[in-house]
Amino acid sequence: MTTSPKHILKKVFGYDTFRPLQAEIIDHILEKNDTLVIMPTGVGKSLCYQIPALIFEGTTVVVSPLISLMTDQVQQLRQLGVNAVILNSAITNIEYQANLNQIKSGESKILYIAPESLLKEEILAMLDGLKVDCLTIDEAHCISEWGHDFRPEYRQLGGLRKRFIHAVFVGLTATATPRVQEDIQKSLSFEKSAKFIASFNRENLLLRVEIRTDALQQTLAFLKNYQNQSGIIYCFSRKQVDTLSEQLNLYGFQARPYHAGLSDSERHKNQDLFIKDKIQIIVATIAFGMGINKSNVRFVLHYNLPKNLESYYQEIGRSGRDGLTSECLLLFSYADINKIQYFIDQKENELERTVAKKHLQAMVRFAESMVCRRIPLITYFGEDYKTEICGMCDNCLTKQKDLQDLTIRAQKFLSAVKRTGEIFGAHHVIDVLTGSKAEKVFFNNHDKLSVYGIGKDHSKKEWMVISQHLINKGLLIRDEEFGSLRLTEKSAAVLQNKEQVFGHIQVGEEASKKIKEPEQAYDQKLFELLRKKRKEIADQQDIPPYMIFSDKVLAQMAIYFPQTQKEMLSISGVGEVKFQQYGKIFLVMIKLYCVEYKITGQREQLKLQKIKERAETKPRHIEIGEAFNEGHSVNELTQKFDIKTSTILTHLHKYLLEGFELRVDSLQKLVSVPEDIQKKIFMEFSREGTEKLKPIFDKFNSEVSYDNLHVLRIIYLTR
Ligand code: ADP
Ligand code: ZN
Repeated sequence: MTTSPKHILKKVFGYDTFRPLQAEIIDHILEKNDTLVIMPTGVGKSLCYQIPALIFEGTTVVVSPLISLMTDQVQQLRQLGVNAVILNSAITNIEYQANLNQIKSGESKILYIAPESLLKEEILAMLDGLKVDCLTIDEAHCISEWGHDFRPEYRQLGGLRKRFIHAVFVGLTATATPRVQEDIQKSLSFEKSAKFIASFNRENLLLRVEIRTDALQQTLAFLKNYQNQSGIIYCFSRKQVDTLSEQLNLYGFQARPYHAGLSDSERHKNQDLFIKDKIQIIVATIAFGMGINKSNVRFVLHYNLPKNLESYYQEIGRSGRDGLTSECLLLFSYADINKIQYFIDQKENELERTVAKKHLQAMVRFAESMVCRRIPLITYFGEDYKTEICGMCDNCLTKQKDLQDLTIRAQKFLSAVKRTGEIFGAHHVIDVLTGSKAEKVFFNNHDKLSVYGIGKDHSKKEWMVISQHLINKGLLIRDEEFGSLRLTEKSAAVLQNKEQVFGHIQVGEEASKKIKEPEQAYDQKLFELLRKKRKEIADQQDIPPYMIFSDKVLAQMAIYFPQTQKEMLSISGVGEVKFQQYGKIFLVMIKLYCVEYKITGQREQLKLQKIKERAETKPRHIEIGEAFNEGHSVNELTQKFDIKTSTILTHLHKYLLEGFELRVDSLQKLVSVPEDIQKKIFMEFSREGTEKLKPIFDKFNSEVSYDNLHVLRIIYLTR
């Protein structure tokens, strides 16, 4: 059969394989069973209803809340040779009539429409005359008052059941708590329905948090790694957006502001310039991004702390839609917590205040987290996230050699907190340490203390980072309301020299040292040429470059150097219509390039080599497990692989779980926990299982270190 979903996937969209859940969802829809799809941004929701729409005989109506989203979808479909049309208030009368006619005549089978237009009697009457096979509701969370974006018109869509008796109903959203999911299904009177929830883990996003010390310098240092690459910077206020955008321009970046204080036309213009790769950076308040599908956003920088993890997740989700690595950096400062807190306190409704506070706390926990960032992030969305080391966040990638012994500095800081009475915030404590002449210091007689000025050898910024570390490690507690710092039970051991403190200090320039990405395997020169060509064509047609081919498609061309139509079509993302329209032009370029750089002869060789390289690289845990069995100690392995002890131990655990033998006798000496406690921990393992260490860590009041737990787990599993 020529119209199988898989066939359409290749022929129209140019992709070889479905992403997780897509095939199941499509089959489910084709069987006319109502379907709720919950998938994070960029994973590929649209295909799930677009492929059925091409297979169904009748019309598919797609309801979308935003004009820009509709326009983007329709433009993308047209690039693929699919004739979809729009009916909304933003098009001219003539266009409206023309589009209406296309739907009536069946020339176009996919109609994108705003909810209020769809609910008009004249439109419904027109649709009565056609067979509507599918009603898709995009951004379906707008149906629910419990969602963050409720739209009253969406509520009425359920009533269309009686009108579209042949239609299957499909709801799509990237954010929905169980409560909202239930609401959607109820409101749309779903029958024989199923829910499909994709993982919230976006593996290609590199997550980092840095303490904010000098935001502008940190931003400039960060941007050095992203010459000419698109990115978004989110700020707290309009004023900050304007200031930063101006500053970046002074430093030679093409940046534009975006916030609710600008006129519609200005906002629209700036967004358009960004989407079409005519400027590099958008500096925005949270208002930016809802309606954009730009696939080559390479970074998202949060200049301020977002107020909850939902916003953070949504904002970072705007990067890396093409699947290539994208970096998300959050500049974290305690001052922001107070600012957000202030806004929360202004809310009149008490319930709202409580909820907002909870949300903020979860956000702060994420920023302070010392474990893999994906753990607090993904579990927040109710997903069971099992991986302990993702390899794509700062905490998982911190290298052993970058860890510094901070014990003396920690002792100085903790003593200063103690001597000043445990009632002051970090700024004052740092003023005392650095011997500041601030009035508050003299007023409190803190210049008379023995700790006054003992920290002059480090900058205020460095002390800020250290105070943060101490909070993260549970050596200090910060009062949520007043910001004052006080010691914990654990601090005594450090002050008495019984425990050391290690940490990773990055300030300013240093902080921008990009976490090493795997060597880019593509021919960079060719890639740049293809990108230039793409921009040229896009400008001529006045469409965003990513609509022609994504960065990922171009990167593949620069790996495989396709020489024939067949080879070009075998590249993921090149379908038949796009090949005719653009692929041919790129094919000629690539051929010329190969002749010029004498690549043709080596091409097969190169491909083979790549395949071989891939096969030869052993997974890390196997490499580490084998090295350990050959007699290397854990300590030696941390040096050899340049990673933390806990990471080595996690790899050994994985190795063990895959059924390999492990030489465990030498591990016992790493354990520094009394035997009776060891026994108790083993009991816990047998009761609770060994999958997660955190519950046990908590149960023992953080008194048994993770390193110890890692080792004990391995010992337990091999007993
Ligand atoms: P969402 O609506 O979930 O945010 P989109 O539907 O816009 O995501 O898809 C994101 C990107 O992933 C698009 O560029 C799309 O073409 C691409 N994509 C979708 N499905 C696949 C697939 N099976 N293989 C490769 N790329 C895909
Ligand atoms: Zn991680």
